[in-house]
Amino acid sequence: MKKEIPYKIYLNEAQLPKQWLNLRAFMKQKPAPLLNPQTQQPMTVQELSTVFCDELAAQELDDSTPYIDIPTEVRDFYKMYRPAPLIRAYCLERALDTPAKIYYKFEGNNTSGSHKLNSAIAQAYYAKEQGLKGVTTETGAGQWGTALSMACSYFGLDCKVFMVKVSYEQKPFRREVMRTYGASVTPSPSTFTSVGRKILEEFPGTTGSLGCAISEAVEVAVGSEGYRYVLGSVLNQVLLHQSVIGLETKTALDEYGVKADIIIGCAGGGSNLGGLIAPFMAEKLQGKADYRFIAVEPASCPSLTRGKYAYDYCDTGKVCPLSKMYTLGSGFIPSANHAGGLRYHGMTSTLSELYAQGLMEARSVEQTAVFEAAERFARVEGILPAPESSHAIKVAIDEALECKRTGEEKTIVFGLTGTGYFDMMSYEKFHDGKMTDYIPTDEEIAASLSKLPKIGK
Ligand SMILES: *Cc1c(COP(=O)(O)O)cnc(C)c1O
Repeated sequence: MKKEIPYKIYLNEAQLPKQWLNLRAFMKQKPAPLLNPQTQQPMTVQELSTVFCDELAAQELDDSTPYIDIPTEVRDFYKMYRPAPLIRAYCLERALDTPAKIYYKFEGNNTSGSHKLNSAIAQAYYAKEQGLKGVTTETGAGQWGTALSMACSYFGLDCKVFMVKVSYEQKPFRREVMRTYGASVTPSPSTFTSVGRKILEEFPGTTGSLGCAISEAVEVAVGSEGYRYVLGSVLNQVLLHQSVIGLETKTALDEYGVKADIIIGCAGGGSNLGGLIAPFMAEKLQGKADYRFIAVEPASCPSLTRGKYAYDYCDTGKVCPLSKMYTLGSGFIPSANHAGGLRYHGMTSTLSELYAQGLMEARSVEQTAVFEAAERFARVEGILPAPESSHAIKVAIDEALECKRTGEEKTIVFGLTGTGYFDMMSYEKFHDGKMTDYIPTDEEIAASLSKLPKIGK
């Protein structure tokens, strides 16, 4: 007899994964290597170690070890807020009158309010293990900075955050949460770094971008004794740590004998989606099971759906390694959309390669439609979703309505990456009918792509 599926599937502590899953190890055609921006040769662990912690540099380049142990200290921290529940959206299903079965993995049950803590704690741990004094980073909407501040205070590390200026000004509460956990927060671009000064000179009124904040954080890390730089998305190491999301999801589904048909996630730099799909994509790559995967991005920053698959800089200041990815160009500054976590110009190399191989789909959605979906979801499921997460909700609803049309009983799983309590200004704009959808023109994208670096020619 089939077990009845509860509203929430909670795993117990013992079911918390003991190892992360390294998706690249399962790929026959690997993502292209990171290149040194000066020599255009593949980066070595040694070169990466000047910017990143040693162990994280090793993880960054490891595309052959399928499973990597989660250190006990990291697992102990995970136990404070994990395993995260997998929720059956019975109420949403009823509201949509769909035969589809909808599940979502909820990552908003921690103070940072998002999945980013899963990697922040791992990165802080390796920095501590190496005997470092502290770390630097950038933050856009503020979730990553918050998560990293929490992780650093737990391990007694100093934390310097460069926060994209527009968010620094619009999200004072985020900033104060970070300071509560002991981080110092600087609006970017700032006059403290040479790259910041240069950008300010070139674009005096700029409200900043993630790419620019990254360059500033890297400059400070490289120039300060006992500091390294850490990043909350895009990197292979971050996808690795985020695999905890997918591993728990798979355990929960397996426990009830449920097989997902469609797995959906929002995609900024690609870390939550890469983590959510990791064990499922590994099965697909091994020919053990088939799934549809859908990456959802904002129409205002459409790296997968309208970008180019090419080597590009990861940051505006061009100090980070070159990565082959779907990109809009490192100088692309998206219009001020309201999903701050989805404004990065490129997509992580692993998801880019999987997408190029046709193993994953991508869709872009406009922000008013995203907020409509967010509100619809909040009103029946209770949780107030982050605008980023709501991109996944929008496509999950679309797929469920498609099932209603065709009568198919598909199982849809999506990642609900976080809560939206710090995004009420965006909700306000939506409620007041003042939200607009700015979609870049082909000319704007082409102009940005024309500045891609020329590699190997
Ligand atoms: C940062 C963030 C995202 C996007 O980042 P990915 O690396 O693409 O996962 C999505 N949702 C929330 C709530 C975030 O904070």
